[in-house]
Amino acid sequence: MATTYTGPVIPAAIEPLISQRAKDLLQKVWDFVDTECIPAEALFHHQISTDPAKRWASYPQIIEELKEKAKKAGLWNLWLHKGYKEGPGLTNVEYALMAEIMGRAGHVAPEAMNCAAPDTGNMEVFAKYGNDAQKKQWLVPLMNGEIRSAFAMTERFISSSDATNIQTSIRREGDEYVINGNKWWISGAGDPRCKIYIVMGKTDAGNPNPHKQQSIVLVPAGTPGVNIVRPMHIMGYDDAPHGHMEMTFTNVRVPVSNLVLGEGRGFEIIQGRLGPGRIHHCMRTIGVAERALELMLRRLTDPTRKTFGKMIGEHGTVQADVAESRMEIDSARFMVLNAAHMIDLHDAKSALREIGMAKIICPSMALRVIDRAQQAYGAEGICQDTVLPNLWTHVRTLRYADGPDEVHRAQVAKLEMRRAKAVVQKIEEQERRSAMLLGQKAKL
Ligand SMILES: Cc1cc2nc3c(=O)[nH]c(=O)nc-3n(C[C@H](O)[C@H](O)[C@H](O)COP(=O)(O)OP(=O)(O)OC[C@H]3O[C@@H](n4cnc5c(N)ncnc54)[C@H](O)[C@@H]3O)c2cc1C
Repeated sequence: MATTYTGPVIPAAIEPLISQRAKDLLQKVWDFVDTECIPAEALFHHQISTDPAKRWASYPQIIEELKEKAKKAGLWNLWLHKGYKEGPGLTNVEYALMAEIMGRAGHVAPEAMNCAAPDTGNMEVFAKYGNDAQKKQWLVPLMNGEIRSAFAMTERFISSSDATNIQTSIRREGDEYVINGNKWWISGAGDPRCKIYIVMGKTDAGNPNPHKQQSIVLVPAGTPGVNIVRPMHIMGYDDAPHGHMEMTFTNVRVPVSNLVLGEGRGFEIIQGRLGPGRIHHCMRTIGVAERALELMLRRLTDPTRKTFGKMIGEHGTVQADVAESRMEIDSARFMVLNAAHMIDLHDAKSALREIGMAKIICPSMALRVIDRAQQAYGAEGICQDTVLPNLWTHVRTLRYADGPDEVHRAQVAKLEMRRAKAVVQKIEEQERRSAMLLGQKAKL
């Protein structure tokens, strides 16, 4: 009996933008995620030690096995878009479809294919701003999936969504920089494979230009004075083995050669750090929402679950929830693909408005879809027996982790307001013409 195809979605409107090679790769990504990654999720979590002494000193072996499989299958570093000769040469639109599929198994698939945050953004820092020695030491092993990395900007006692507030000091003493500060929510710093921290702080706190005070230095894991204080918990989840760690830097010394790009250029780096990477989370979030909707469909069509004489999915309000979810996912996907296409056509800077809109819309959309799926599952939807609470919790963090919604909204509003002068002129011209027409006709 023929079954309904449930493979990767390529919206008809963008189908002409997808090469045959990318379509073939997309199918391979789908098969890998569906048959290897999703079934491995339970084992991945099972292999994370519950012994406090080992929890942050080990990592699930299954992920290393999956990495080997992905490498052999050519599903490696797919995020390296056409601009990078080391990658498979995909456009951002093509990668968006693949990242969506990876998002369906967010704890496992992106890492298995070396496409996980924060490493992708950090690799971009090394690729774009690192010197040859820094690339050799850190970019090469990151690209090979031999080590992991962390980006340390946010500070515990500082509102960090405005990065001019960052207080960590980076003071030059002879041939060394001395670093002092308190960072938190540093993703990936809990993983024993994390070997390098990219740290943002101030080398010139007195500079009248607040965007020239900051610099970025590389601090290898294990440097004396670096202390991992604790893992931050996201509504109960500690995200081991990766973790989002609080860290202190106390008189940490690194050679001046560990400076990236130049003193006072930290802002430039964080702004350039995530080019297309700015929407990788959005792409994956569409996949999270698709997974939640699939789980919802399963529950709604379970013949053993009936209320008031009907299967749950036969109730009209529940069907409306399914339809809303379908429409919202597809709308958000178009926003992401449009942003990706703008980046392909121009660059990330030219796509600021599209990127900002996608960053606001995708997490909120996925939260609503997951919430509806949870509702369909009754009490089971908020307990440990489905992945839904975990999906919801992690998507919720994206309303801050990539910069708060409000900051993106302010950016979108600012760009929209720039149109105001031209729009007002046009409206006034229309009113003038309207009054003229009315005057002429009234005379007849
Ligand atoms: C799971 C997770 C992972 C993270 N990973 C990392 C990491 O790897 N490295 C790292 O350095 N940081 C990381 N962060 C931190 C994240 O980048 C910050 O939480 C984020 O930038 C917000 O900064 P803040 O928490 O200091 O909030 P604040 O800056 O204090 O902002 C608090 C609130 O103020 C409001 N607000 C702020 N600005 C505006 C505005 N312009 N208009 C209106 N309202 C506004 C918003 O509601 C915002 O949520 C992570 C966070 C999470 C939750």
